[in-house]
Amino acid sequence: MKLHLASGNAHKAAEFASLAAEADLPVEIVAATGTGGMPAVVEDAGTFSGNARKKAQALRGLLPAGAWVLADDSGLCVAALDGGPGVESAYYAGPQGDSAANLRKLVETMRGVPAERRQAYFACVLLVIDPQGREHGFEGRCEGSLRETAGGSGGFGYDPLFVPAGQTLTFAELPEAAKHALSHRGRAWAKLAAWLRDRPDVSA
Ligand code: IMP
Repeated sequence: MKLHLASGNAHKAAEFASLAAEADLPVEIVAATGTGGMPAVVEDAGTFSGNARKKAQALRGLLPAGAWVLADDSGLCVAALDGGPGVESAYYAGPQGDSAANLRKLVETMRGVPAERRQAYFACVLLVIDPQGREHGFEGRCEGSLRETAGGSGGFGYDPLFVPAGQTLTFAELPEAAKHALSHRGRAWAKLAAWLRDRPDVSA
């Protein structure tokens, strides 16, 4: 089956393609770039699930009836910032959505915050719309902490600053498969994959 990804984020598309390849499922992730591009969506719902719904519905409106759609809304929630940037993660340093600027701003904001106050977690909500138009949500979370300085070149976004609980390397330093096994997106995907396995209509 084809699962149309409601995202213009190439890094997310690559992660979902890897996750789908790792799963023993007849699922092909179709990036929005392959079907005319992801329409602009104002992410103002105030929740991950609300924003995911807006993205999924926006793409679904452009696809033929009966398409499967997947949207991801995710972000980094930092305890010392009262859960921020949270749903604003993509726009932390401004509306242009510059991930390098977002990372720099977080490094600066957290400068001097002691280790015991550097806890953070990544959250991910996946929203699937099935061919009948029904919505299905799956959540994943990954607890961890923030380094003082960025490290590593893998992943994307805030990965160079985030060390998952129980690890010493950042998501950007860990191998891709290790990130998938631990990450908010990997955990939400595992729930989605288990649900798809139980669907009689999921076929190649
Ligand atoms: P969204 O595309 O509106 O869901 O924004 C997600 C934002 O959260 C991204 O732009 C990143 O800043 C951050 N983010 C979400 N997932 C990850 C991840 O796996 N690694 C690093 N940053 C992430």
